[in-house]
Amino acid sequence: MINLYGKTMSQLAELMVQEGQKTYRAKQLFTWIYEKKAKSFDEMSDISKSFRDVLKEKYCLDKPSIYVKQVASDRTIKLLVEFKDKSKVETVLMRYNYGNVACVSSQVGCNMGCSFCASGLLKKKRDLLPEEMVGEVLVLNDLLEEEGQKVTHVVVMGTGEPFDNYDNVIDFVRIINDQKALAIGARHITVSTCGIPSKIIRYGKEGLQINLAISLHAPNNELRTKLMKINKAHPLEELIPAIKEYIDLAGRRVTYEYILIKGVNDSLEHARELIELIKPTFAYVNLIPCNPVVEKGYDRPDSATIHAFMDYCIKHGVNTTIRKEFGTDIDAACGQLRAKHNEE
Ligand code: SAH
Repeated sequence: MINLYGKTMSQLAELMVQEGQKTYRAKQLFTWIYEKKAKSFDEMSDISKSFRDVLKEKYCLDKPSIYVKQVASDRTIKLLVEFKDKSKVETVLMRYNYGNVACVSSQVGCNMGCSFCASGLLKKKRDLLPEEMVGEVLVLNDLLEEEGQKVTHVVVMGTGEPFDNYDNVIDFVRIINDQKALAIGARHITVSTCGIPSKIIRYGKEGLQINLAISLHAPNNELRTKLMKINKAHPLEELIPAIKEYIDLAGRRVTYEYILIKGVNDSLEHARELIELIKPTFAYVNLIPCNPVVEKGYDRPDSATIHAFMDYCIKHGVNTTIRKEFGTDIDAACGQLRAKHNEE
């Protein structure tokens, strides 16, 4: 069965041609499934009965089911969604003042092995398919519908490394960005990577206006390799030029994510090194006070240290912010998505 939620408009148009249909069927189907939220092919009254029968036989409209739902005191929603094969991933909805931000997982587990990240404690079981990532957003939209709201922004910052599942993530982005589907603006979509240079360059060539975030977390190779396994394979002298190339190709700035870990990467000397390193890439910095990972003994610096780091960056001309925290009382914060239910 082909899940329609996993097809981009052009892929669906191609499928329709293979079915002996006109390409406009793709648009018609998008309208039915995303705008009119049809739950079955029988509802699609302007499609002939005989073609509806074909659709019923070969295609489906499956969404993941909600296995666990938690709502935090700040109204953050954390879901553990379950797919057909019983794999489960976490999806989080954050209520910013500018919109409803869905944090989507891209893999079941993760193989990147970053030392500070609890989300990656479970090794990768498999990649998520486009329809499964679209499903994460649809399930949140169904919940928000009761409030007359919907998901307005998407960050691919849940469990998994999106660029280790490149093709599926790009299809996912194209689907949610499509005007006829979820119509989430490109500038409202962010893909976050731990830094795979070849994929960063490829992403720059896609012609998408999607935001790119780089999980940097350390200003030199020695420290970065300690924190992030990926830096051994692709050190900074590979990563930074790839980001420069991306910026030239896409004409977009990037955001560096930098977790501040107490006594590890939080000194003003680190800030100085960071500014030097990213100078050629003219970017934003988003500081993330480390969420404690007891397994690793990491903790966050005190507020004065965090602000001193930020002030140093700003003083040296880099637009720097501190990430707002959501859902701390339900373990929904960065790096805290634990796939414990997958281990059952
Ligand atoms: N693999 C991608 C997508 C996951 S994003 C990436 O690395 O970018 C997950 C975000 O949460 C990253 O910015 C990551 O660095 C951050 N994160 C992970 N563990 C954290 C922790 N303990 N405290 C704060 N942020 C954390």
